[in-house]
Amino acid sequence: MKVLFTHSYFYRYDPKQWKDKRPYPPLGTIQAAAVIREAGHDVSLFDVALKEGPEEILEIFEKEQTELLVIYDDGFNYLTKMCLTNMREAAFKMAIWAKERGIKTVVCSSDSTDHFEKYLDNGADFVILGEGEETLRDLVQKDLDPTTISGLVYNSNDGSIRNAPRSVLRDLDALPLPAWDLVNIDEYAEIWRKQWGFFSLNIATTRGCPFKCNWCAKPMYGNRYNSRSPEHVADEIALLMEQYAPDHFWMCDDIFGLKPGWAQEFNKVVNERELKFNYKIQSRVDLLLKEDTIDALVSSGLQEVWVGAESGSQKILDAMDKGTTVEQIYEATYLLKKKDVRVGFFLQFGYLGETKEDILKTLEMVDDLLPDDIGVSVSYPLPGTGFYEKVKGDLIEKANWTDSDELALMFSNTYLPEFYKQLHRYVHKRYRRKQGIENIKFLLKNPRNIDKARIRSAVATLYYIPMSLVEWTRLNKTEKEVV
Ligand code: SF4
Repeated sequence: MKVLFTHSYFYRYDPKQWKDKRPYPPLGTIQAAAVIREAGHDVSLFDVALKEGPEEILEIFEKEQTELLVIYDDGFNYLTKMCLTNMREAAFKMAIWAKERGIKTVVCSSDSTDHFEKYLDNGADFVILGEGEETLRDLVQKDLDPTTISGLVYNSNDGSIRNAPRSVLRDLDALPLPAWDLVNIDEYAEIWRKQWGFFSLNIATTRGCPFKCNWCAKPMYGNRYNSRSPEHVADEIALLMEQYAPDHFWMCDDIFGLKPGWAQEFNKVVNERELKFNYKIQSRVDLLLKEDTIDALVSSGLQEVWVGAESGSQKILDAMDKGTTVEQIYEATYLLKKKDVRVGFFLQFGYLGETKEDILKTLEMVDDLLPDDIGVSVSYPLPGTGFYEKVKGDLIEKANWTDSDELALMFSNTYLPEFYKQLHRYVHKRYRRKQGIENIKFLLKNPRNIDKARIRSAVATLYYIPMSLVEWTRLNKTEKEVV
């Protein structure tokens, strides 16, 4: 069968990310493409990540005589987990155009798993619910007869039919390596190098997360946690380094190296094979409290960890069922900094019950710990979560953001949505101001240091000091509109 793979994450439709210039290839998409190619089918990729819009696909339909269009999002990338409506609409367009040409379409994404009816109403013939490779392979092998294939929902004369669910894959090493050859890697490398002076590629070493933060949606890989073997991961790293020479990897797992002993074994394999690279991971503060674990990670190339700090208020962490403590955030950050690992904090404002006092605790925590970077968001209820169940009555008018910078608070809370948008602006300015002041102090103590990033940050204080005051005044004005 002639199978055309695509996905719906257009960086240009997400202005904040497009401006940020850190694009990653659609890893989940090329992983699925590799599975279908291994099953003997003729596979190609229309990678929309860096495209202007979906229209180019029309030419490909003509040229390639596509039999099946697979819109398969990269479920490893948190951006696709945000289920943004700009991307949903682009997926609808491609599916509708395919239908008009008699081409069958199957969709697999977080958003289509949550809202399969919308996709079936907008051109899709089949929607895969959750992890997709095996379901897709069965569908293609059975000549698109969906009747006995678990994990699938599809239209019939009697409405949509939802087959039995499929359990998640356990043996991840049995999958072929992603079809990296289908991606124009040079386009990505050029953007990275021009903007950042280095090039990063993405790798997934695990699937799923067993923790239960009650706002975290996991429609693709769920609460199970399965790992590839360290050898299998090292094989892919070696191949990517040889073929594309990235300077850095983003291990895009929800939680990297959770399986006991995995990080140590990975370190051993990487060092035995003399693979030298830097990498960034996501993890939890409660998993980063042991020096020997951090030593193993650092020895294998760990450069940066992003942790879901979320809040400096224990009350809010508990309300989120985060399972971590504010003390652990402090302890893990001190330890990582001691080992020269960069630390990024994901912060979340606007969770149910959050008051100004809780917000101030978060701001104080950021001031105290001064992570190397912060990512600020507001609480976003996605289907399948306990949090969503609590507020779904408020989501009639709007349930998804258009792009990752919309940050609209879509449910009733302590303050009006504008307050949280303003808070986001204030937190960034305040953080950069504090960072700049610390860099000024450092440079005064170390006058011979010519670290350009520190000097830039110190100079930028001239901008951030007045701007943080302006944003603080604006914040206080919006705060008056308490519901
Ligand atoms: S630890 Fe991270 S991925 Fe796991 S449930 Fe919590 S927020 Fe989600």
